[in-house]
Amino acid sequence: MEEICPVCGLPKSICACKVISREQQKVRIKLETRKWGRPVTIVEGLDNGKEDLHKLAKKLKVACASGGTVKNNMIILQGDHRQKVKEILLSIGLLDENIEVL
Ligand SMILES: [Zn+2]
Repeated sequence: MEEICPVCGLPKSICACKVISREQQKVRIKLETRKWGRPVTIVEGLDNGKEDLHKLAKKLKVACASGGTVKNNMIILQGDHRQKVKEILLSIGLLDENIEVL
C-alpha cells in the first residue's frame, strides 16, 4: 500500500503539497556579524519542519563548504554565502520573488 498524504488524500508519489508549500514560502537570507567580526549567513522563514530543515542545512553546508547549524527554525552558516544559498533555495522549488536577500 502506498502512503497517502493526509492533506490532499492523494498517494504521496503524486501529491504536490510540499511543492506548493515551498512555492508559498517566504524566506529571508541575511548577513550578520558575530563575535570577532566573523560574518554568518542566516536563513529564516523556512517552515518545512525540523527534519527537513536539518536536511536542507546539510545540503547548504556541503554546497558552501562551510560549517553551520540549525537554531530556532533558522539555518546559520559560517561566512557570507547569500548568493549560493539563494541558488539552492531556487533549485529546491522556492520562488525568486519570495526570497529576500539582505
Ligand atoms: Zn498532499
